[in-house]
Amino acid sequence: MRVHASAALPLATDPVVVPRPSAPGDDTRADLVGQSRAQIAEALVAAGLVPPRQAPMRARQLWHWIYARGATDFAAMTDLAKDLREGLARHFRIGRPQVVQVQVSVDGTRKWLLRSGGEEFETVFIPEADRGTLCVSSQVGCTLNCRFCHTGTMRFVRNLTAAEILGQVLVARDALGEWPARPEGRLLTNIVLMGMGEPLYNFDAVRDAMRIVMDAEGLALSRRRITLSTAGVVPLMARAGEEIGVNLAVSLHAVRDEVRDAIVPLNRKWNIAQLMAACAAYPGARNARRITFEYVMLEGVNDSDADARELVRLIRRYRIPAKVNLIPFNPWPGAPFRCSPDERIARFAEILFASGIAAPVRTPRGRDILAACGQLKSASERPPRAELERRAPVN
Ligand code: SAH
Repeated sequence: MRVHASAALPLATDPVVVPRPSAPGDDTRADLVGQSRAQIAEALVAAGLVPPRQAPMRARQLWHWIYARGATDFAAMTDLAKDLREGLARHFRIGRPQVVQVQVSVDGTRKWLLRSGGEEFETVFIPEADRGTLCVSSQVGCTLNCRFCHTGTMRFVRNLTAAEILGQVLVARDALGEWPARPEGRLLTNIVLMGMGEPLYNFDAVRDAMRIVMDAEGLALSRRRITLSTAGVVPLMARAGEEIGVNLAVSLHAVRDEVRDAIVPLNRKWNIAQLMAACAAYPGARNARRITFEYVMLEGVNDSDADARELVRLIRRYRIPAKVNLIPFNPWPGAPFRCSPDERIARFAEILFASGIAAPVRTPRGRDILAACGQLKSASERPPRAELERRAPVN
């Protein structure tokens, strides 16, 4: 059996505050994390560090150090000449979001509170027997305001950059001691874009970050091990399939527009029929790569036998190769819902199952540290305009 808890990590459930001497925001050197190889090559030439002919090769070497070896210090890059290493360190950095706090659940789930550019966001690692999944955030806060979601009670602050999205993976790899990236026996095997935010409302940064995560010469995660979850931004779903090509999960949560309008307000823009049609058209949706419908079980709201039967009818009518993930509602302070009783969830699952639709119930993980689905929230608020303007002219 693999042991997921690494000895170097704290095992207490109390938050561990990691002290940092200076904020990384003070560092004005350009971050190489999040840039494509071509962009790195261009930056090396622009900085006058290498002639154009050499640049693609140097960019590849840097790529290997950053994403296959996890280097954060140019001095470690022993296959580069010393003066080049020094030049690199003057112009560039290999950034990580600052780790503000680490919490470990009694079930082994870990939650990192990260800070970058003055705002805070969360990332969660969920170890399981046969895999380890990192739940990655795409935005600080969220614009969707789903009624059952804790992140929805927080104001939208901003999109994360590709570097910050990627930075969550790098921080987790650092903490798990997973450098150099091994092809086998990894702890971090899967990524779900199910943290704070709506990934399709930050399309370019999510795409750029996932392309780097999937790059065979770096982190090398297979697209089959990455799942993007959307509440249903219909016009961008096809593009997600074409340009990112990962598995799709859809936060459905209700089968009637009146109910979905009330709990997932995005439904007022794109209703259930439009959403199901977009799922049916999702590139690559076939039996081997089914679409996952997430369905949070809210007592008395969406959990009746009739709801289950309507869900079967919808999936059949639109001929969607699908499975359903039933998520017991995770409570948070002041939440206006209760989780459906176990028997209700079991009965709902049975109706789906009897119709040939797989409907596993997602075991809540990390509830004690508010790390479970829909419990993420950070204290970041939208900064005053003057502060935003002060920060704007970075490049
Ligand atoms: N915005 C995207 C990504 C977030 S994924 C999306 O909506 O899909 C987070 C998942 O957890 C979504 O399926 C969301 O609906 C679900 N969720 C939110 N709050 C929850 C709660 N309190 N209990 C259980 N699941 C919840």
